[in-house]
Amino acid sequence: MAITKILTPRADWPDVPNGREEIEAMFGKFRWRDPIPGERIHKGFVLVEPEWKGDHLVTATLPIVGKMTIHKKIEPIIISVLNQIMDRGSAHLLKLMLCYCARHKMCNPRRELSTHSWGIAFDVNPNQNRVGTDGSMPQVIIDAFKEHNFEWGGDWRFRDPMHFQYATGY
Ligand SMILES: [Zn+2]
Repeated sequence: MAITKILTPRADWPDVPNGREEIEAMFGKFRWRDPIPGERIHKGFVLVEPEWKGDHLVTATLPIVGKMTIHKKIEPIIISVLNQIMDRGSAHLLKLMLCYCARHKMCNPRRELSTHSWGIAFDVNPNQNRVGTDGSMPQVIIDAFKEHNFEWGGDWRFRDPMHFQYATGY
């Protein structure tokens, strides 16, 4: 378990984009394609241009959770979120966190791309916070993400309580 503390000034953090156009303006126009018949990847996942990954993603070493692939611009923000959780003595409440995954929303090929495709969304404690349930997300985790301007899927009409994203209106 990696526990490091890195402080980054708030001024470095990007504004929260609203909608696909702003997401792509801030985090990069996503370059991908759907699989062709016979290509074996998980249903609803997409194939991303390797160059896009190199330009926009980084494998960072984060507090509490250790190594994780995320968007480069999200790194200082998620470090601060995790430091806050740690500072409040609640690191043990974060059991599992997932981020980068290039796929359609809900793995449904007919839906638009998920914010996980840009590496700007995090699924926290997914086993205790299934889609469509109330879940049991600890308030200290909700607060840490929201205080860093993340949107929480637990506030959506169709609840996704494991999900936090650095974007609105998408
Ligand atoms: Zn999610």
